[in-house]
Amino acid sequence: MKSLDRFVRALRRLPGVGPRQAERFAAYFLRASQGETEEFITALSSLKEDIKLCRVCFAYSETDICALCADASRDHSQICVVEDPQDIEAIEKTGAYKGLYHVLHGAISPLDGKSAEHVKVRELLARVQQAQPPIREIILATDPDNEGETTALYLADLLRGQVEQITRIGYGVPLGGDIDYMDEMTLGYSLKGRTKI
Ligand SMILES: [Zn+2]
Repeated sequence: MKSLDRFVRALRRLPGVGPRQAERFAAYFLRASQGETEEFITALSSLKEDIKLCRVCFAYSETDICALCADASRDHSQICVVEDPQDIEAIEKTGAYKGLYHVLHGAISPLDGKSAEHVKVRELLARVQQAQPPIREIILATDPDNEGETTALYLADLLRGQVEQITRIGYGVPLGGDIDYMDEMTLGYSLKGRTKI
């Protein structure tokens, strides 16, 4: 059945979806009412139409500048650098951080041919250089795996001298982990226990 195969193949491109799960999703849609299916299609297409990247921090946003960047009550002299937009939500849940963010949209990974050019590094540097008031602290909250460490070290070298302080989250972060899978307590502690690099 060509249509079914095609749909299952499309689902398998989603992160974390294996063949069994893709088949279960397909079975759900085959059973679903026309209304349920249409709701899904509408939600998916408005996701693509309405959500863009904040032009300051590159987080997902429905407006030109996201709510966090536009919030004057946040500390605009601190930037927390993360790999993925969903990491912001994980950090926000801890309540331990009141500064701004910068989303790299990936990490530097020489083995996969991903250099600094492939992530939003140039944009970060420009942002730091143009920031008014100046940036006091950059917190490197890339994932605690090989790529995340490589990226953190690269950024620390690049930004040294441009800001007062560069810190790296560390305490309590499991090695090889993924920031948005960490529980709030652990992530909160690791933010508070960040160290200078
Ligand atoms: Zn923003």
